[in-house]
Amino acid sequence: MLFVSLNSLRDMDTEAIVIRIKTPSGDMDSSVDCPSLLNFNDLLVAIRDVMPEATVTAFEYEDEVGDRITVRSDDELKAMVSYYCNTMKDQRINGLLPDPLQIFPRAGKTPGIRNIHGLKVNTRPNPANDCAHTVPDSTTNNSLKKSSAELKRILSNGQINAQDIHYQEQLGQGNGGTVYKAYHLLGRRVLAVKVIPLDITVELQKQIMSELEILYKCDSPYIITFFGAFFVENRISICTEFMDGGSLDVFKKIPEHVLGRIAVAVVKGLTYLWSLKILHRDVKPSNMLVNTRGQVKLCDFGVSTQLVNSIAKTYVGTNAYMAPERISGEQYGIHADVWSVGISFMELALGMFPYPQIQKNQGSLMPLQLLQCIVDEDPPVLPVGQFSEKFVHFITQCMRRQPKERPAPNNLMDHPFIIQFNDGNAEVVSMWVCRCLEERRAQQGL
Ligand code: ATP
Ligand code: MG
Repeated sequence: MLFVSLNSLRDMDTEAIVIRIKTPSGDMDSSVDCPSLLNFNDLLVAIRDVMPEATVTAFEYEDEVGDRITVRSDDELKAMVSYYCNTMKDQRINGLLPDPLQIFPRAGKTPGIRNIHGLKVNTRPNPANDCAHTVPDSTTNNSLKKSSAELKRILSNGQINAQDIHYQEQLGQGNGGTVYKAYHLLGRRVLAVKVIPLDITVELQKQIMSELEILYKCDSPYIITFFGAFFVENRISICTEFMDGGSLDVFKKIPEHVLGRIAVAVVKGLTYLWSLKILHRDVKPSNMLVNTRGQVKLCDFGVSTQLVNSIAKTYVGTNAYMAPERISGEQYGIHADVWSVGISFMELALGMFPYPQIQKNQGSLMPLQLLQCIVDEDPPVLPVGQFSEKFVHFITQCMRRQPKERPAPNNLMDHPFIIQFNDGNAEVVSMWVCRCLEERRAQQGL
């Protein structure tokens, strides 16, 4: 079940919507005057009228990134209508006529093709070893899941130009650039656009664009979808999926049962990146994004060395979430990302940065000397009485001073804390995000 934001439910009552049922023999449009009264069974009956020969038990719709979401109950139907009403509102604001809500009926499986023995195909990526300086191999290519047809579709539809973007509001500002909520007129979707000023040569611009190409191929529910990037004068704009819950750094203390589900998504996202031989290099709460559907996704990972170097030339400082070996300027690999997971989740659980002597007033970049305590001192430990033993153990393992003593990717997935919360329950995160957003709106008097 998904928790639906009250605001969007209110919007549902205001106007009629058109539902387009996509069937093998053509499309069938129906107008629904009062979408908030629509229920799952009524819609199923309407679908069965149009497709009497099929045993339809559910249907799907497409979200903003083209992923199919299945609807099997009244609650899931409400979440779909709420999502569609928000999309319709965005299209209107941008002077567009709303597209109908497209649904794709799904026929039930006949007993003959049901997997009665519950056999599973293991789709987990190969445990990646230290990948700091290695070259992608053939296993890597296998895990780049998008087919070439799909990739072509993305490359042809996904190319975004500056003139097709309507900037809406500023979402935040980091050390490198500013992030805006924007609307892409051609793609008819809301985007997050990160604009970074860079004074570099055209040659370097080209190198960055080619280094960013790999982002088109990243396909994981735990990684933010990339739609395109372009340079205008001395600024690069990077367009990605918009997450309506924002980043975790602005949430207060997060309860353990929510944090557990978030940790599962973060570990899965990192495992995916590592399987592609990509180190994240900037794991921290502001690079973990959430939405009201309960999804958690990683952003801002370092695929472009040139981009990272160009930003670093302008913004001097060391990141407070970096592992001791990185602060000391030593070689580092996957284990450094694992340390950053530990320190990030410790901060999210405590509601404060775990080293009290380090005050992060403006962002996470600090003078190197201030971070020396991370190299010199024993790592902090979560107070046992306030958190479960599994959670305390998870953080302690991730924050071992010796990189090799920290869990390897497969050990992370198999950690009892991750196993405990790996139940696919997006509702917990969804409800928590919606509640926090409602509280924030109430505080701002909206
Ligand atoms: P730094 O520059 O040090 O990495 P940062 O991660 O806070 O810090 P940005 O990456 O520029 O800085 O992001 C600024 C803010 O914009 C984030 O904190 C987040 O709240 C918001 N933001 C970024 N990407 C998205 C997105 N895809 N959807 C919604 N909000 C986003
Ligand atoms: Mg960021």
